[in-house]
Amino acid sequence: MTHTAGEPTLHPLTDRVWAYIQPDGGWMINNMGLIEGEGGATSVDLTSTERRTRDYLAAARAVASPIRRIVLTHSHPDHCNGTSLVPDAEIIAHRNTALDLQQVHPAVGEIFTPFEQGEVHARTPTIVFDSDLTIDPHGRRIEVRHPGGPAHTAGDAYVWLPEERILFTGDLVFHGGTPFVLSGSPAGWLRAIEQMAALDPVTVVPGHGEIGGPELFAPVADYLRFLIAQARDAHERGLSPLEAARALDLGPFAGLAEKERIVGNLHRELAELDGGPLDVAAAWQDMYEYNGRQPLDCHA
Ligand SMILES: [Zn+2]
Repeated sequence: MTHTAGEPTLHPLTDRVWAYIQPDGGWMINNMGLIEGEGGATSVDLTSTERRTRDYLAAARAVASPIRRIVLTHSHPDHCNGTSLVPDAEIIAHRNTALDLQQVHPAVGEIFTPFEQGEVHARTPTIVFDSDLTIDPHGRRIEVRHPGGPAHTAGDAYVWLPEERILFTGDLVFHGGTPFVLSGSPAGWLRAIEQMAALDPVTVVPGHGEIGGPELFAPVADYLRFLIAQARDAHERGLSPLEAARALDLGPFAGLAEKERIVGNLHRELAELDGGPLDVAAAWQDMYEYNGRQPLDCHA
């Protein structure tokens, strides 16, 4: 798949609600939501680097009142790193995301092409929830929901505007890129997609890629079912995740960006089938091997 170049853009979705879409949606290039309400604006996620965060905050300032709350859809750095640049905002996250942000993760920097992080870091959440949370019910109703178990990560949240039927999925939907489930659960993610589809949204803002509608769900679910089937087959044949990835034909998913994620995804599902621990560092190393020992392309 060819990457489309382009500048990040704030797209109006309805009155005083926007999606900030960052092409090309690859590694570390996520999307955000901006929702105006009584008592200030709410941002769904921030972004990865100082430069990208400052660009977003300038675009947000031009149209909306100051950001008072940031809902984190999960703990991945491309969605959280910029929060230090909004020091006074409440940071709302699922309990497992708050816990994950306190963990030290293995450095995977050399696996990616180099990028300029700048002076940003992820803040600790100030409001933690377990199942769901409603914000600003007297202004604009914003529902924040956890799917009930691990999906893309252990602490996912999606953001639903019931009046407007707008859904911000975080990375529970990738559009044009390969779904990445190394830190989640393929079966749990399928359940999360069923839940979100049952809301019958009109507009779906994915964590990466262009805005769409409910048609964005099926390709993610199809990929996850394919992954589960391939992992079962590899498990029966006694293949390692890297061996299994090299042996399989990605078929209709070969055109998705970041296809090396199949290796990390197989690590996760094979660990679930084995009941064994997941070796995250080995998973990243194997993705690098699968990619021909070329650093993974990172446009941050
Ligand atoms: Zn993510």
